[in-house]
Amino acid sequence: MAAFPRPEFTQMALIVQKYGGTSVGTTERIRNVAGRVARFHAAGDQVVVVVSAMSGETNRLIGLARELSADPEPRELDVIASTGEQVTIGLLAIALKELGCPARSFTGAQVRILTDTAFTKARIVSIDEETIRAELDKGTIVVVAGFQGVDAEGNITTLGRGGSDTSAVALAAALGADECQIYTDVDGVYTTDPRIVPEARRLSTITFEEMLEMASLGSKVLQIRSVEFAGKYKVKLRVLSSFEERGEGTLITYEEDTRMEQAIISGIAFSRDEAKLTVIGVPDRPGIAYQILGPISDANIGVDMIIQNIGHDATTDFSFTVNRNDYAAAMAILREQVKEHIGAREVTGDNRIAKVSIVGVGMLSHVGIASRMFRTLAEEGINIQMISTSEIKISVVIDEKYLELAVRVLHRAFELDQPPQAV
Ligand code: ASP
Ligand code: MG
Repeated sequence: MAAFPRPEFTQMALIVQKYGGTSVGTTERIRNVAGRVARFHAAGDQVVVVVSAMSGETNRLIGLARELSADPEPRELDVIASTGEQVTIGLLAIALKELGCPARSFTGAQVRILTDTAFTKARIVSIDEETIRAELDKGTIVVVAGFQGVDAEGNITTLGRGGSDTSAVALAAALGADECQIYTDVDGVYTTDPRIVPEARRLSTITFEEMLEMASLGSKVLQIRSVEFAGKYKVKLRVLSSFEERGEGTLITYEEDTRMEQAIISGIAFSRDEAKLTVIGVPDRPGIAYQILGPISDANIGVDMIIQNIGHDATTDFSFTVNRNDYAAAMAILREQVKEHIGAREVTGDNRIAKVSIVGVGMLSHVGIASRMFRTLAEEGINIQMISTSEIKISVVIDEKYLELAVRVLHRAFELDQPPQAV
């Protein structure tokens, strides 16, 4: 019998399975993964397996480079970091052969996952799926190194931290796979992080748009690029646990009306990696926002929330947030820019802030969601420093020390601990 979950697959299917670092963290666990893959293979499925490096390995490798240089060359970083996945593909192929399964490992370059040359954050341009298809047609289990590719000149590239998810989704898209299964150490996508809210529930489905918001807002289950990729190519994507034999995980859906459950809010995401910069007393004239943010983006620093207050005395205050890692660099650029070109009164900042967001397509059809969120935070005396919204999310910036409290009270206020009513 076919290993579960292979719902709806009444006949042979082509499945891409991705196993994250914890799932392949020891040789014992790799043997476990091999067992699961073997069951799909025995059921007649064609299986492509994408693996991450063993947990902690990528950090260790990058750490080695940093022992030798404060600013290692990105090309060499990719040469080093990509070896983590090369080890796991070999180990998994060996484990599969021990179980009597035909298996073959491939690096990103060998299956020609062609990327651009943006070392450490390369984007996939194309995949030569013929090599893989030929192996699958021979009955071979194809084991591909996640996270890595090769550029047109043959340089090894990597796809950014967590990039194995994107490798898997891209392979699923290229092969027209029936499903892309992301195996991880949790059994699906949760309403929020269960380490903070023990009552958090697994969602059986989540829409692609919600998943994209959750990933962008700090939920670490899937790399955001992989979600974008899945949306673009409508890849059937499922998140599941590699530590459980059964369980349907969470299916990412592409149409709102296919949802079996209807909650106003689907989840609460949060991020601690935030920092805020404020320029006080900026002259209130055209071009100022560009003068402030232009140099920031030229330095490749992503800006998230932006707030400009209405000025009273021909000046205004301008705040924005960046990733905490970019805080020092952004501050230096801003001070320089203000001194040289803008002439504001002062530049201040705070890197002890956090962002909490509620996400749900239910917002499209319900009113009063924002006020419920703000009231809930007010009742706990949590000050909101910034607010931003989209059609299906509301984010607030608060003092980092209230983050866990905020997540807990919002989870309760939106009844996320209760199973949603069927509609
Ligand atoms: N090994 C890489 C990382 O740790 C890629 C991945 O695991 O998805 O970021
Ligand atoms: Mg990951």
